[in-house]
Amino acid sequence: MEIDPYPSVIPYGRQWIDESDIAAVVETLRSDFVAQGPQVAALETALCELTGTRYAVAVSSGTAALHLSCLGLGIGPADRGIVPAITFAATANCLKYSGANVTFCDVDSSSGLATSVHFMDALEKNPVAKVLLPVSYSGSVSDLSEISNLANEAGAFVIEDAAHSIGATYGSGSRSASCEHSDAAILSFHPVKHICAGEGGAVLTNDETLARRLRTLRTHGIEPREQWRYDQVELGYHYRMTDLQASLALSQLKRLPDFLTRRRALVSRYRRAFEEEPFCSRIRVATTDEQSAHHLFVVHFRDEVEREAAYTFFHRHNVRVQIHYMPVYRHSYYEGFESRLCKGADRFYATCLSLPLYPLLKDEEQNFVIRCLRAFLDR
Ligand SMILES: *Cc1c(COP(=O)(O)O)cnc(C)c1O
Repeated sequence: MEIDPYPSVIPYGRQWIDESDIAAVVETLRSDFVAQGPQVAALETALCELTGTRYAVAVSSGTAALHLSCLGLGIGPADRGIVPAITFAATANCLKYSGANVTFCDVDSSSGLATSVHFMDALEKNPVAKVLLPVSYSGSVSDLSEISNLANEAGAFVIEDAAHSIGATYGSGSRSASCEHSDAAILSFHPVKHICAGEGGAVLTNDETLARRLRTLRTHGIEPREQWRYDQVELGYHYRMTDLQASLALSQLKRLPDFLTRRRALVSRYRRAFEEEPFCSRIRVATTDEQSAHHLFVVHFRDEVEREAAYTFFHRHNVRVQIHYMPVYRHSYYEGFESRLCKGADRFYATCLSLPLYPLLKDEEQNFVIRCLRAFLDR
């Protein structure tokens, strides 16, 4: 069956800025503060309320949040961290920035999530690992309480990479990024994530000493003293968020419940459509749990060849599907890692494809995505 390309491009993810968001930023533009002012502090308070965490430190990106979390916890040269093979490169890069080594752990080949089983396996081979970085791939939080138990036994820290899972819950209702089972959690406010700040991120923690150190580290390692005096006590970075970004993120945060509801509805529509033929015998929907924040909607094809053909077919029809992710150890920078240890990750990567999923996606656009997939399978 031949179909025409969609008249406009349908991305896999994008932001949704409305008039209330624009008004919030304009108000900040007219105010006395555009860089470090009351909006950053207000965003931090709102993030604490949302997650139930005691401290939030807003920074310039999710990557900066990861880097500062490592530094703040004292991760440094000769240390080792364990990172799921299926994630965005930043989860591993933050260890390298800190001078530490990276060990990749495998993931479940049906969900893409590294669970306590995978961390345990990697810990057995690297018992001196100092930090575990579970990633809430696609929006589902891993079994953090078990991962936290493992870390406690091994004397390691846990940093939850919650870039995909703001608003998700896990277990018996724990909130993602609540730090109930981690030393720190990070969020990203990149436009494809749930909340857009242009760029931005945050570290959450219940540890007052860590929070204070993160605030120093995000501003060059400088601490204020009396009057005009200040003192640089260690080497920090310029990782601050501006009030412009914070006012946008704060306005977006008010809309998070609606965003999540829409994401959930779109996921149900995909799921219902894919229960029927020809979908049900040709593709498999990646497993997620009911408590997911649904950042990505991932399907699997029969094999790598069919996935490649589907990718090309969608793009030819203006549907910008994407692949999340190539295992990080396959990047040339990470060459040399023993990838035979990550068979689940390789299997996941070979056949996965992320279909468009974002609150602004219209029913008719989603219908086209489904029709396009049907046309591909019937071709
Ligand atoms: C987006 C993302 C990051 C990095 O966030 P930025 O704000 O883009 O720096 C880290 N980890 C994961 C899993 C992500 O998806």
